[in-house]
Amino acid sequence: MPDELRPRPGTLSVWAGEPGHLDTNATQPPVVHSVSFGYHDLDEWLRVARGEAPGHNYGRNSNPTVAAFEEKVRELEGAEAATSASTGMGIISSALYALLSPGDRVVSIKDSYGGTNRLFTEFLPRFGIEVVLCDTTDHEAIEREVVAGCEVLYLESPTNPTLKVVDVARLAEAGHAAGALVMVDNTFATPINQAPLALGADLVLHSATKFLGGHADALGGVACGSAELVGRVFHYREIHGASLHPMAAYLLLRGMKTLHLRIARQNQSALRIASYLESHPGVARVHYPGLESSEGHDIARRQMRGFGGVLAFELKENTLEAAGRVLERLRYARLAANLGSVETVAGPPATTSHCECTAEERAAMGIPEGLIRYSVGIEDAEDLVEDLSRALEYLA
Ligand SMILES: *Cc1c(COP(=O)(O)O)cnc(C)c1O
Repeated sequence: MPDELRPRPGTLSVWAGEPGHLDTNATQPPVVHSVSFGYHDLDEWLRVARGEAPGHNYGRNSNPTVAAFEEKVRELEGAEAATSASTGMGIISSALYALLSPGDRVVSIKDSYGGTNRLFTEFLPRFGIEVVLCDTTDHEAIEREVVAGCEVLYLESPTNPTLKVVDVARLAEAGHAAGALVMVDNTFATPINQAPLALGADLVLHSATKFLGGHADALGGVACGSAELVGRVFHYREIHGASLHPMAAYLLLRGMKTLHLRIARQNQSALRIASYLESHPGVARVHYPGLESSEGHDIARRQMRGFGGVLAFELKENTLEAAGRVLERLRYARLAANLGSVETVAGPPATTSHCECTAEERAAMGIPEGLIRYSVGIEDAEDLVEDLSRALEYLA
């Protein structure tokens, strides 16, 4: 579709993937729980089973509700194709296992999501795949490793939990010059704030569990890119079997109708809260790419349309105990491990992004014990600022 005819993100959030269910006159996509799809005509069944005609055969391979969800994300990411999995890790591992072979080399960053980091350090090496993890903000070091040769360059921006930013366009160019596939985990930014394919990425990955669904009531993952690449990821996933459940697909579709509204609000509130925290005497440092003081601010301004709903802050009293005292005083925050929901969610790395590491390992990774990750919900920002102010009072 020419750019001038492409609907804007708010329109796509509502309409993409939604038409085409009107054979039942339903205005909303039906949740098709059926495991299989029956045919009167063996020829037609054969064509569908071979992928030569549209339709569905067996639920592990495809399902109409799941397809509607994939279509909505595909249009929002401006991709040729999309496929899904039961969780974010389901799609990330499907993409890596589908596209890598023994002897291949992966270049990535130290701050990738905890589960992804486990794939890189614990699983891929067992299959003879070498993984090099570079300092996340050292672009020269990443480029050097890419030039040394790799099949996949795997990026994430902004990162979890310290909101580091990597220059996707610059590194995608380096990756392509070296003949690598460039994958970007776009979970923190969402397609509303960042378009990795337009920046040069080949494959965009999401934990739909977070901002896409937005209500913390359904797990899911999705990948977008060219039909060729996505087809290979889909084929691995349909055999591997981590398929998205139709009910989860429905919840994600429903959540996504308000994606643009939620993200606009969360962008605005997070910037407001980050600025407030930066001026608080009990706070040592605030991590948020929207702050001018943030290391990644200039890159973020170039590659993001908004800075996202997640921030993190370090207490001057740098202990898990102090973080706990602040967290337990918050009235409007769930103390939980997820993020990207309509309600504010907060927690320390020790129970969220880095719960599988020891305190020493976290320190070595530059993650302070007194850090609080704060995922801003859609509440009134004034109430959240007042809530934080109350919780931080005794530290001042
Ligand atoms: C949560 C998350 C994942 C994993 O998603 P699940 O749905 O929990 O499997 C991957 N990447 C990022 C950035 C995440 O925040």
